[in-house]
Amino acid sequence: MRTTTQILVIGGGPAGSTAAGLLAKEGFEVTLLEREHFPRYHIGESLLPSCRPILERLGVWDKIAAAGFQPKGGAYYFWGPEEWEVRFRPHRRDGSTSAWQVIRADFDKILLDHAREVGVDVTEGIAVKKLDFDGDRPVAAHWAEAKNPANSGRIEFDYLVDASGRGGVMATKYLKNRKFHNVFRNVAAWSYWKDAKELDRGPRGAITVASVGDGWFWGIPLPDGTMSVGLVTGKDSFNAARNELGGVDPVYHKAIGDCPAIQQLLIEAEQVTEVKVEQDYSYAAEQFQGPGYLLAGDAACFLDPLLSTGVHLGTYSALIGTAAISSVIRGEIGETEAWDFYEVVYRRAYERLLVLVSTFYESYRGKEHHFFRAQQLSEKDWEGLDVQAAFDRFVTGIADLEDTEEVYRRIQGHLLGDESGKHNPLDNLNRVHEHKQSPEKPEKAINGLYLSYEPQIGIRRA
Ligand code: FAD
Repeated sequence: MRTTTQILVIGGGPAGSTAAGLLAKEGFEVTLLEREHFPRYHIGESLLPSCRPILERLGVWDKIAAAGFQPKGGAYYFWGPEEWEVRFRPHRRDGSTSAWQVIRADFDKILLDHAREVGVDVTEGIAVKKLDFDGDRPVAAHWAEAKNPANSGRIEFDYLVDASGRGGVMATKYLKNRKFHNVFRNVAAWSYWKDAKELDRGPRGAITVASVGDGWFWGIPLPDGTMSVGLVTGKDSFNAARNELGGVDPVYHKAIGDCPAIQQLLIEAEQVTEVKVEQDYSYAAEQFQGPGYLLAGDAACFLDPLLSTGVHLGTYSALIGTAAISSVIRGEIGETEAWDFYEVVYRRAYERLLVLVSTFYESYRGKEHHFFRAQQLSEKDWEGLDVQAAFDRFVTGIADLEDTEEVYRRIQGHLLGDESGKHNPLDNLNRVHEHKQSPEKPEKAINGLYLSYEPQIGIRRA
């Protein structure tokens, strides 16, 4: 194990391995420490097309495409009394898919192995236990082998990317700046089913999203023939139902029984795993950066699984984080400016998705249900973010949006498209994300800076 490194990345999930791989490809010395041995289980199986250009840049897309994952043509919603679909456009170059339903254990392992191949010093089974600081700047990490803590050591670094996921080493242990999102105080309960039926409508391989009295379900067809079926519901109502029905399983099964769209899919299916539960997963750190460090992926923020945005935000933050760190190390820009850029771009992407999720929830017609009322982002009730202000920025701040649009469009590609002719409450937002050919040089910049891809990834002055 090295004792010094230019860049230390904590965590080998999609955010960590993407950041580490991109940074190594930029020519830097990168060390990644991952607590688990891969493959390891992870929830979050449904990807967005926006990941593709980033994974192509990383050079791992062909491996993902060859891995036999389930091509994902889009999403199909049974949303209140309405049905509508979101259809991802085929990739403009060769008509291939840009999104997959993946088994995360396999997907994450491909990314981590790839990071190793492009030069990252990856060690698995090693947990970062403690950080040393010079003032506010983290400068070294104490690590220990997860299974044999006596095997331990210290590694110094110039820059830190904290991609430690929900554990969030920096945000939870040192900064203590993680704010939970009271509006989306939800619980997710899921399990896997074999012999589930393919959805008889919508794009092939779509994620099925179906609202149910006090929440909604996802149904994700996976490449091993199973279907991931998850219930998302308000924490209070989940706990009340658990007390009333005597456990998590009866709540989950009763909700399936109350949701015809999901019940249909599972009519001949057999549940092959126990029900897993997660809660309190909607949060954001007050700051995504500080002296010498960036928070990426779930270590920074996560909003809600409704739009399958977790891996997108992880790989996106890895891309802009790479640009920020690379330009600072190359002396093209100061750390404060680069970090500001990272903060603004990342936070706006996050806030936009937050508003988008809220739009989905608010488009639900059965508004008598507590869950859908509770998910409305119309009040200022999230510590650290004035949601109304974020909404205003999004809706009226077209100039703001255009600032990031160039950056966003380049990596977002064709995120969402609706070619079904059915009602889609995202129409307006689709237009915002409509794919256009990007000019080589961005016309708009954020704070006078823009993300640059050629010849290297970096942040340049406009
Ligand atoms: P992770 O993938 O969590 O990786 C972090 C890594 O850091 C882990 O491997 C961990 O072992 C390691 N680590 C942690 N602490 C340490 C330490 N101290 N030292 C060393 N290593 C450490 N996203 C989607 O895109 N699509 C979906 O359909 C989707 N569904 C979801 C459903 C639910 C119910 C939830 C809760 C989330 C869902 N997500 C989904 C979100 C998605 O799972 C995450 O956003 C994504 O995994 C984030 O990637 P990451 O690399 O930031 O973190």
